[in-house]
Amino acid sequence: MINRDRLVQTFLELVQIDSPSGEEAEFREEMIRRFQALGLTTEVDDYGNLIARLEDGSGEYLLLSGHMDTVEPGRGIKPVIRDGVIYSDGATVLGGDDKSGVAIILEILQLIKDHNLPHPPIEVVLTVEEELGLQGARNLDMSRLKSRWGLVLDTGGGPGKITRSGPSADKFLVTIKGRGAHAGLRPEAGVNALAIAAEALVRMPLGRVDYESTCNMGVIEGGTARNAVPAEVHLFGEARSRNNDKLALLSQIIINALEQTTARWGGELELEHVHNYKAYRLPDDAPIIQAVVKANKELGYEPVLREGGGGTDGNHYNAAGIQTVTVSSGQAAVHTVDEHLPIDDFVGCAEVALKTVMNMAA
Ligand SMILES: [Zn+2]
Repeated sequence: MINRDRLVQTFLELVQIDSPSGEEAEFREEMIRRFQALGLTTEVDDYGNLIARLEDGSGEYLLLSGHMDTVEPGRGIKPVIRDGVIYSDGATVLGGDDKSGVAIILEILQLIKDHNLPHPPIEVVLTVEEELGLQGARNLDMSRLKSRWGLVLDTGGGPGKITRSGPSADKFLVTIKGRGAHAGLRPEAGVNALAIAAEALVRMPLGRVDYESTCNMGVIEGGTARNAVPAEVHLFGEARSRNNDKLALLSQIIINALEQTTARWGGELELEHVHNYKAYRLPDDAPIIQAVVKANKELGYEPVLREGGGGTDGNHYNAAGIQTVTVSSGQAAVHTVDEHLPIDDFVGCAEVALKTVMNMAA
């Protein structure tokens, strides 16, 4: 059903329109033009996210989502096809993250239009600044959306990969203030911020905490000179869990370690604790899971339900009550200049997405 040549052609056109994060306007204009030509209504929210709707169809609205922005180096992308795989020319990323997903959405809409295929009403959301930490989805007014279920086309691998859960993540920006002093002449006048940080760190459960939780302190900065008691240290870290209660507990352990250690040394703590997104896990009997699993089986692909370890726009849709799974669009080696898109995977993922859409028609 998927028109392979057209899908590839669309993709090649899309990646040649620059859209690094924060500079999506030109790409968005092109998408508005294409959606309107396919009979969709379009609107742009205050943050720059594009919402387009195909209002006819039977059943509940189905969300199809991807993001418009790409990471750097992502300007002047020149795609080349070699042995059935699309690459960049090596100077930039390819932009398959996530223009492969966007191209698949366009192909599905084209096929629905040309062949009058059974389908639910469709709500397309293309976000901005996904690569800056899901900023577009975070700032999207979810009350505007009509969808009950959703499909985010934005992960790697061939067809069959279905991400059915996502972790919560908390970010910690920590400043530990001690007191500076000459380390040789008057060390007793100082409070060593580095020592406070070290003691707090050994009290944190870093690494894989359990099968669904992780914790990391990734950056430490501080101190000025060998012979000066360091007055200030910065720590930058995170905790993740697919279980919101566990995350809350994990975060509390980290905060306690910082607060108690700092107090014991007579230092001062400044803590910015950001709750990044909310965990979700779709049950086996969620209609969208069943529709994707069925689509894979109908096409002869082995459906693999995966637990997600990272954030996607799907976290925000699920938090808003739209049951959303993330599926592959074929992208590979993303965020590197070796990024590529195997065309067979790309087409297979498009077939799965199309079948899923058709399965969601009432
Ligand atoms: Zn992406």
